Amino acid sequence: MMIEITNQNIQDVIENTEILSSIKLNKNLSTQNISIFFKSDRIGEIIELDCQSCSSVTFLPFMSNIKKLCCDSCFNLVAIPPLLTNLETLSCNKCPLLNNISEYCNLVELYCNLCESVTKICDLPNLKYLYSGDCINLLLVNNLPSLTILHCPGCVRLQSIANMINLVDLYCDQCFQLYNISNVPNIVSLKCNDCSRLAEIPYIPKLIILSCEYCIDLHSIPLYPKLRTLNCSGCMNIDIIPYLASLNILICNECGYLKYITDLPRLTRLECNQCIRLENIPTSPNLDVLYCNSCFSIKSLPYMSNLTILKCNQCTQIEYIPELPKLTILSCNSCVMLKVIPVISSLKTLSCYKCNNIYSIPSLPNLNDLICYNCNKLEYIPDLPNLETLNCPECPTLLSIPVLQKLTKLTCDRTLLIPPLPKLKILNGYIVPTLSDQECAICYEIDNVYFTSCNHSFHIECLKRWFLVLGGRTQTCPYCRCELTHKY
Ligand SMILES: [Zn+2]
Ligand SMILES: [Zn+2]
Repeated sequence: MMIEITNQNIQDVIENTEILSSIKLNKNLSTQNISIFFKSDRIGEIIELDCQSCSSVTFLPFMSNIKKLCCDSCFNLVAIPPLLTNLETLSCNKCPLLNNISEYCNLVELYCNLCESVTKICDLPNLKYLYSGDCINLLLVNNLPSLTILHCPGCVRLQSIANMINLVDLYCDQCFQLYNISNVPNIVSLKCNDCSRLAEIPYIPKLIILSCEYCIDLHSIPLYPKLRTLNCSGCMNIDIIPYLASLNILICNECGYLKYITDLPRLTRLECNQCIRLENIPTSPNLDVLYCNSCFSIKSLPYMSNLTILKCNQCTQIEYIPELPKLTILSCNSCVMLKVIPVISSLKTLSCYKCNNIYSIPSLPNLNDLICYNCNKLEYIPDLPNLETLNCPECPTLLSIPVLQKLTKLTCDRTLLIPPLPKLKILNGYIVPTLSDQECAICYEIDNVYFTSCNHSFHIECLKRWFLVLGGRTQTCPYCRCELTHKY
């Protein structure tokens, strides 16, 4: 059980407690009381000491038996005595003055994040876990033969991580000077994002996860046989993704020189947005999700029998999208060369705004949402029995809205006449009156009224009579005089 020492109980604890093996120092302990405790001959009994956030602590005494020490956020701590031969766990995060932490030969775990004075961590034969993030002056990490986990992101002066044959997990994001990672044959997870000097990563047979975003000097990805996840977004110098037999997830957005992705048999997710030189989407029978927005050089997409989500917005050269049997979401906005939307009965969401070569939407029995505004040539929307939302303003050639039985929300051109839609609730942002309140503003009968987009309701016949009265003048809503360019 951990005993907390406070300004009130310190004498009592020193004099009367039987065993002082596990001690916590209250963070408000006075300088004088800290000195009394550290000079006490009972210090040798301590196995575990927690003096977190004790700003009065500047030195720690020699504690012959201590195994576990936590002095996180001791801002004034200058030194921990050497030769603490039993010390196995040291947590000294945020001790900005501390610099001598390489002297405990039996240390197993070391947490020294944000220790700004530390320059080297070396010669710890038993160290397994090292967390040294944002040690901005750390220059050397060496001779740690047992290390399995090294997390050192933000160590901006570190140049090399080498000869760690037991290392399994290396996380070294934003080590801007790091140019060498070598002899680390057992790494499973390597995250070295933003290591902008790193020109090469070694062949590591066991690697499963590699995240090397914005390693702008990196020229190639080795043929890792077990790699499952690769994120190399922003690696401007990579021109090919090689054959990676086990890869499930590939994220390679903004790889400006990437030209070719090899066929990857296990791939389930591919994100390659803004790869402006990429010429192909690989053939991957298990692909489930594909995001290839703004890939200006892609001319065609392969048949993907298991794809459920496709986002190929602004792929300005694509003329054709295959009939993908499991697709539920298709987003192909601004695909200006696309002429036809494929007939895909599983499709639930279709967003194809600014597709200026599309004339019609095909029959899609399961479609729930259709976003097709700014389609300059769109003339026809069929009866879509499951459509719930339709967003189609600024389609100047669209002639009419069909009677959509399940439509609840409609945004459309101001000039269109809307047929009776039994479930419609919102029209151009306005709440539509309930069915029984929908009466013709001319004859006051309540069945089968059409809506103007100014949200006034009329019978078609009553409206035609009104247009006759207007003669050749501009056709307007008889109620609010809003212009209607729809011709009858
Ligand atoms: Zn009427
Ligand atoms: Zn009106």
